[in-house]
Amino acid sequence: MKLICIGRNYAAHIEELENERPKEPVVFIKPDSAILPKEQDFYIPEFSNDVHYEVEVLVKIKKVGKHISKQFAHTYYDEIGLGIDFTARDVQAQLKTKGLPWEKAKGFDGSAVVGKWLKKDKYENIDNLHFSLLKNGENVQEGNTSLMLWKIDELIAYVSTYFMLKKGDILFTGTPAGVGKVSPNDYLSGTLEGENMFEITVR
Ligand code: ZN
Repeated sequence: MKLICIGRNYAAHIEELENERPKEPVVFIKPDSAILPKEQDFYIPEFSNDVHYEVEVLVKIKKVGKHISKQFAHTYYDEIGLGIDFTARDVQAQLKTKGLPWEKAKGFDGSAVVGKWLKKDKYENIDNLHFSLLKNGENVQEGNTSLMLWKIDELIAYVSTYFMLKKGDILFTGTPAGVGKVSPNDYLSGTLEGENMFEITVR
């Protein structure tokens, strides 16, 4: 399976990193080895001094598909989750200036936190889900899927024109503003519509 990730999908986060507003979604892939095993702590990798958390709404793909139209995209998933796209911001900054791919900054071991899954039917409108990240009990990131530049179904249509989606693939839909550095002993927890979705200790 693969993790298909979207960058720059919330206007306020684009501004905080002083990025250009993209004309189409920014897409990158993390390997399956990036998934942080359940119940395991997150270890800051030795090659970075500036690892950031990015809380994101996740979508689990339930069947194979390519060239999926936006209209039918909703038939390709029935579970929604929340996770973290850990990013070695210092490594990414170097790669960006050279115009090189982001994989080393984004796809390293443990860089993908995947929390629990909830049925999408539970929600009236998946394009209006409130989510947040707490660091040591303090609210550091807050978002709502209504603020996405490209909504979930549009993202599925877009990415499936490049990558065949397979059962079990996970879509990371981009982070809102408020990204920041993690330090050893930080305790991160994420909520989706008020429900606790994951808890992670940083080492
Ligand atoms: Zn991200």
